[in-house]
Amino acid sequence: MTTLLWLRQDLRLNDQPALAAAARQGPVIPVYILDDDAPGDWRIGGAQRWWLHYSIATLDSALRDHGSRLVLRRGAAVSVLTELLGSTGAEAIHAIRHYEPWWRKAEAALGERLCLHDGNHLAPPEQVRTGSGGQFRIYSAFWRGLQEHLPPEKPLPAPDAIPAPDHWPRGDKLADWQLLPTKPDWTGGFDWTPGEAEAQRKIAALALEGYDDRRNLPSEEGTSRLSPHLHFGEVSPRAVWYASDAHEVTFRKELAWRDFTDGVVLALPDYARKNGRDAFDKLPWRTGKASAADLRAWQTGHTGYPIVDAGMRQLWQTGWMHNRVRMITASFLIKHLLIDWREGERWFWDCLVDADYGNNAVNWQWVAGTGIDANMFGRIMAPLTQSEKFDAGDYIRQWVPELKGLTDEAIHDPDATGRRPDDYPPKLIGHREARERALAAGRKVR
Ligand code: FAD
Repeated sequence: MTTLLWLRQDLRLNDQPALAAAARQGPVIPVYILDDDAPGDWRIGGAQRWWLHYSIATLDSALRDHGSRLVLRRGAAVSVLTELLGSTGAEAIHAIRHYEPWWRKAEAALGERLCLHDGNHLAPPEQVRTGSGGQFRIYSAFWRGLQEHLPPEKPLPAPDAIPAPDHWPRGDKLADWQLLPTKPDWTGGFDWTPGEAEAQRKIAALALEGYDDRRNLPSEEGTSRLSPHLHFGEVSPRAVWYASDAHEVTFRKELAWRDFTDGVVLALPDYARKNGRDAFDKLPWRTGKASAADLRAWQTGHTGYPIVDAGMRQLWQTGWMHNRVRMITASFLIKHLLIDWREGERWFWDCLVDADYGNNAVNWQWVAGTGIDANMFGRIMAPLTQSEKFDAGDYIRQWVPELKGLTDEAIHDPDATGRRPDDYPPKLIGHREARERALAAGRKVR
């Protein structure tokens, strides 16, 4: 029996249960559909499109090594799949389940013709539930609940060969999709190798010594940098789990955040656009010309806070930002500049190669304190203290060349030490003033 294999953020051959099931049934037609309408505002962002281009190219070549190929189509996923079922005579569609609201809608519309498989989580989010049957809303409780489902199932090997159909349906040319950006100043510095082979290489070489402390130090490469590979499903979380050791609990807990965030969007599909707590709808965010100028300064890394500027420039130049600095830059936008977290979510969505609907929204709302978890809006990170505490001097020197010549004492706060070079901007707002303004705004919510 011929079947379609519908690939989305699961661009791999190893530990691909949908592929394994399809290949057992007979000829397989692997399909990737670029559907820019269904996700609405969450159509694949600029940096991700760059990644996707190369990921698709490498997957097609891996499929060809297995006697198969990847059929590319552009359009509404449900219509394209329905048309392909008719034109190829395929009797079913195999796919890995996804939790973005637009994918859940498409999955529901395809009905019985679609066979869904679990494979992009440590445990299927709908199975990890509270005692009363709901999704967990607090990560620590989720982690405890997840224990019942661990260890995850062992990863499946890639099939040796993938049976091909007698006739291949027509497909688009990847180059015609124009996924690579045309902005001349962008992605030139993207030092990434998308694709499953690189993800496999990275997990084989996973070095997590000292991860508990080093993961917080932006000047070091102390984390796995697997996030874009995980987002595009070039490696499964189960494979990453088994590549780490049982004593590397902190790392495994970070990995489990992905599962948690999909549980949140399963319960609250609009989480990327709606405050988790309605009371925050009353928060008086700044709007207008001055806040637009501040937003631009934040986006381009010209706030006068070196750790914030270093992070925003790393993001623009590499499509990725260190986790600690993501928290600092997000907190700065929300609390210091009093700009709606959704503006930050949008910018990250476009700039991150790992931009992920659930991970991005849950983390933004966590930092904002607008979310369903217990974090408070009044908890305001001090960027200068964070920069010193996590020893960000070399990180700042790397991403803010204007400050390259400053000593460790001056680099975190050039304004205060009188060492600010002329070509580096003064602070947009002082820390104390910003804190008071944010706390006053927070009081309006009660
Ligand atoms: P490692 O420390 O090596 O962790 C291993 C894996 O665990 C990561 O690759 C990632 O898949 C997962 N993980 C780790 N921390 C988190 C977390 N807090 N939430 C969810 N998953 C996590 N991560 C994304 O993948 N996509 C996003 O769009 C995204 N947006 C974020 C926005 C903000 C404001 C913040 C504070 C964090 C965001 N993160 C996001 C989480 C985190 O910053 C990245 O997953 C991490 O920096 C990726 O680097 P790594 O692969 O080296 O992580």
